[in-house]
Amino acid sequence: MMKSGLIGRSIQASRSPWLHEEEARAQGLALRYTLVDFDALSLPDSALGDQLARMRDEGYHGFNVTYPFKQAVMPLLDDLAESARIVGAVNTVAIRDGRLTGHNTDMIGFRESLRSGLPEARLDHVLQVGAGGAGAAVANALLSLGVRRLRLADVDVHRARELAERLRGHFLDAVIDIVAADRLNLDAVDGIVNATPIGMTSKPGTSIETAALRAEQWVADIVYFPRETQLLREARAAGCSVLDGTGMVIRQAAEAFEIITGHRADVARMNTAFERS
Ligand code: NAD
Repeated sequence: MMKSGLIGRSIQASRSPWLHEEEARAQGLALRYTLVDFDALSLPDSALGDQLARMRDEGYHGFNVTYPFKQAVMPLLDDLAESARIVGAVNTVAIRDGRLTGHNTDMIGFRESLRSGLPEARLDHVLQVGAGGAGAAVANALLSLGVRRLRLADVDVHRARELAERLRGHFLDAVIDIVAADRLNLDAVDGIVNATPIGMTSKPGTSIETAALRAEQWVADIVYFPRETQLLREARAAGCSVLDGTGMVIRQAAEAFEIITGHRADVARMNTAFERS
């Protein structure tokens, strides 16, 4: 029996166990995916190291990492893959021969979702709202796809500045600007990405003024619950092409499945499993 799981807080509603176990079942692999929920277990953040050691000693093949440990886990690992170093966060850990290696699959998840979901999207000039953990992965994905000018906005301007600094070190030819989150100008941009939590069922609303959207622009949301956020609904009504957050979540899970189990996941099958969940 292969063992995998998810470490985080408040993760009881996560669909990851279903996604990973269904994919394993379809491939004839025995896999148990366990939630290590620090809230449900009443554990302090300082227990993270002990939990990693326990999973290693119990023969886990790897695990996913989510809020609030995507950065805190980094110094506790033996190695970091290029994806984790570039993004500055870990959401997947592989365990091989007792060594823990951190990866980031959010970046490839967003990149592949954008590539397949909006293949015609013009990518010269993009506005990204939200520069948190997922935003770092999204910005790296956008720049790696050839975005030449990226405008970053975050109500926490320090987070936007810090991310811009890191990005400038990797993407020397791109122009990366910080813009004020309360005075967003959509005029010159080809597309807009929401990487804030605004639009989640628990945080309704939109992070941009959708009345300013034009039909030739594209709009992507990484929020996936609900699947069609207010932002996407209003962007669609304005004639924009839109991309929802489910492509990213499925593709990051498929990539994580392969890193953890060593077996390639079938993205279309995982998509069907996600819809069934
Ligand atoms: P986070 O808390 O690390 O970052 C969110 C950022 O948004 C913060 O920096 C915050 O200051 C900023 N923000 C909040 N409201 C804003 C506003 N109105 N305008 C501008 N900036 C604002 O969270 P995260 O881990 O980056 O996740 C963000 C959201 O992305 C989550 O709520 C989740 O819904 C979604 N997500 C989706 C996927 C996926 O695979 N589709 C993966 C991870 C996260």
